[in-house]
Amino acid sequence: MSISKEIQAFLLNNSIDRFLRYVKIWTTSDEISKTFPSTNNQFELGKLLAEELKSLNLEDIVHDKFCFVYAFLPASKGFEKVQAIGLIAHLDTSPAVNGKDVKPVIHKNYDGGDIKFAQNSDLTLTTVDSPQLKEYIGLDIITSQGDTLLGADNKAGIAEIMTACGTWQKFPELKHGPIVICFTPDEEIGRGTTKINKKKLPEVCYTMDGSEMGQLEIECFDAWGVVIKFKGLNVHPGYAKGLMINAIHIASRFLSDLPEAESPEKTEEREGFYHLSNLKGNEEEASATLIIRDFELENNEKRMEYLKSLKSKYEALYPGLKIELAFKHQYENMFTYLKKKEKIVDLAKKAIKLAGIEVKIHSIRGGTDGAKLSSKGIPTPNIFAGGLLFHSRKEYIPTLALQKASEVLIHLADLWTKL
Ligand SMILES: [Zn+2]
Repeated sequence: MSISKEIQAFLLNNSIDRFLRYVKIWTTSDEISKTFPSTNNQFELGKLLAEELKSLNLEDIVHDKFCFVYAFLPASKGFEKVQAIGLIAHLDTSPAVNGKDVKPVIHKNYDGGDIKFAQNSDLTLTTVDSPQLKEYIGLDIITSQGDTLLGADNKAGIAEIMTACGTWQKFPELKHGPIVICFTPDEEIGRGTTKINKKKLPEVCYTMDGSEMGQLEIECFDAWGVVIKFKGLNVHPGYAKGLMINAIHIASRFLSDLPEAESPEKTEEREGFYHLSNLKGNEEEASATLIIRDFELENNEKRMEYLKSLKSKYEALYPGLKIELAFKHQYENMFTYLKKKEKIVDLAKKAIKLAGIEVKIHSIRGGTDGAKLSSKGIPTPNIFAGGLLFHSRKEYIPTLALQKASEVLIHLADLWTKL
């Protein structure tokens, strides 16, 4: 299927228009909040999208009390039996950087030089910050004014999915099977699937939450949380010889036995690590919080065995000391599930190529909602949304990426009808 100039122009203009509107709506999530969603402001965007989906002929539109938006696009006539696919993006933006009063700016015809920000004269966006900028010379680039993040993560994904819906409505010659749209709150704080209604999702989904143009993510970390408790014994330090078991001091010795070469700051690409994120306590009791990450479960299992061996070593060194280890599996490498579902990944690759973009397979050094859904039985690779430098005031997106990601969705839906 080839996409006419007219449709391409519609994809570009519609996705830019939507993106510029959506980023202005404040949807920062809050990791400290105990409520679902974590912040009420996310409802505003959810409500707007539910209304817009209605005007795009979608059915069974639900905006539930947890702020999930679900909608159903019936198949083109004659394609009702085609496998349904789900398209997912998240409403919230990262609490790491201010996301209120975002004022997007379009820098026309980027010339390869430094990009300056109207509200922050100290800030510049350069090809050192983001080498991909060199590939975008001649394109229009959208940034914030430098006082907030942009929110391309993930409002680009939302704009692209909405644009695809608008395109299917306006150009009925573009065929598709049944499509389920799902917009989720609180992805940035790791709760994007906590309250998801799995029954509303089809057997196959795609998140539109990847970064640069062409990226397709089918692999993420296998992730574990570790809490280590050290139980010692306090005695007056003047009379402590042979008696005191200083829990926090022993904890620091124990932790210095972790290999420095396996820390986040010393690893990249497919290398795994131990990461100490908290250590607190006193002579009586200390506790350390770590995460363990690797693409291979076996490697993480070896790390856990090593921690167990350290426990034995330190308990033997300090009679009376008690060490407790608690491991929690946080999420799995989604490749475990996706490798059995080649077709789902292959069609995404084909769709990206058909949009005229080079496919860049990427392993996520983190997790996604798609990883959680994949382990819950809904294989969900992650397609690019097109933004770069997420969670930063330098975050940006070329307008072409909005168009191309929308185009990928049109091709993807078409490819599913041809199986
Ligand atoms: Zn995201």
